[in-house]
Amino acid sequence: MKIDALNNYLNTLLQPERFSDYCPNGLQVEGKQEINKIVTGVTASMALLQAAHRANADAVLVHHGYFWRGEALPITGIKKRRIQFLLQHDINLFAYHLPLDAHAELGNNVMLAKRLGLQITGRAGEKEMLLLAELKSPQPLQNLVNLIETKLNRKPQVIGDLIKPIQKIALCTGAAQGYIEQAAAAGVDAYISGEISEQTVHVARESGMSYISAGHHATERYGIQALGEHLVQKFDLQHEFIDIDNPV
Ligand SMILES: [Zn+2]
Repeated sequence: MKIDALNNYLNTLLQPERFSDYCPNGLQVEGKQEINKIVTGVTASMALLQAAHRANADAVLVHHGYFWRGEALPITGIKKRRIQFLLQHDINLFAYHLPLDAHAELGNNVMLAKRLGLQITGRAGEKEMLLLAELKSPQPLQNLVNLIETKLNRKPQVIGDLIKPIQKIALCTGAAQGYIEQAAAAGVDAYISGEISEQTVHVARESGMSYISAGHHATERYGIQALGEHLVQKFDLQHEFIDIDNPV
């Protein structure tokens, strides 16, 4: 398919104009016009670009692309080498940040809830960025922690009493630990996000809500994969997800 058609489809599906984001969403670096194979990944690091090139990708789709608000504008150093690699190999780069976190069917939050087998019950918080979900019955925090470790293949960091019963959960993937007070205000038993800060510990302890830091990368692997699989259903495209391991 043509790059313009793919770009238009993605923008209609993910509606980036609804978000005030920290980066441009959509086609960030233009490459060849005809797309047969897409590679998806969490972050457009050099390792992912090289792996995508080896996999014969015509386009790379990621959650974390380039040109973040506040970063230096000159194309030098690491940024130069990444963009040079894309242009040399004529590979398109698409990035969808907040629109991919929040999407109702393919988003990182919904896909994480599904992976953990949680029942989605609603949304809460600023711009409804928190997804509310439930376990079928109350379970000790330890059970939820074990489930997350098994499903994400990564040991989470936990603040809370492991024997405390948990049923209502709020979640927001990535570096969304700053939403912890909004999660507590939503009246849940536990909040799951990707990272943790020093102050997250105190807010968790003082609110009485448990906090689980399940990994930024680990919690954001599933939206972009779901997007790639969705594109294969819709168009005559090949898709491969490439996981570049990241312990954070
Ligand atoms: Zn992220």
